[in-house]
Amino acid sequence: MTADRFEAIRAALEADLANVQRQLAEHGFSDDGASVTVEVDEGFADSAAATTERAEAIALADQLGSHRNEVVNALARIADGTYGKCERCGNEIPFERLEALPTATLCVACKQQAG
Ligand SMILES: [Zn+2]
Repeated sequence: MTADRFEAIRAALEADLANVQRQLAEHGFSDDGASVTVEVDEGFADSAAATTERAEAIALADQLGSHRNEVVNALARIADGTYGKCERCGNEIPFERLEALPTATLCVACKQQAG
């Protein structure tokens, strides 16, 4: 693993994290740094449209929150030196795979087995 390519991945992860945090803020989701929740206005009329809108907001918050956690975990693995190792078999994840998917935690073989 060359330092330049490694730095490029770290920079991509940091940019991704900033991007996700910006989206969370734009949608007004509350974020305690570990989980993302949607503020529910209790006085809100419980119409079908409002329910759908709320369900969509919750789904988006979940999606952004879990992606953010993957990015945070990847940055933590970079910090502790375990980044790029498959969590299942311990083999090195090929650099090409990490560049395509910086949050990958499994090598291709294990990913296929995990489904
Ligand atoms: Zn593996």
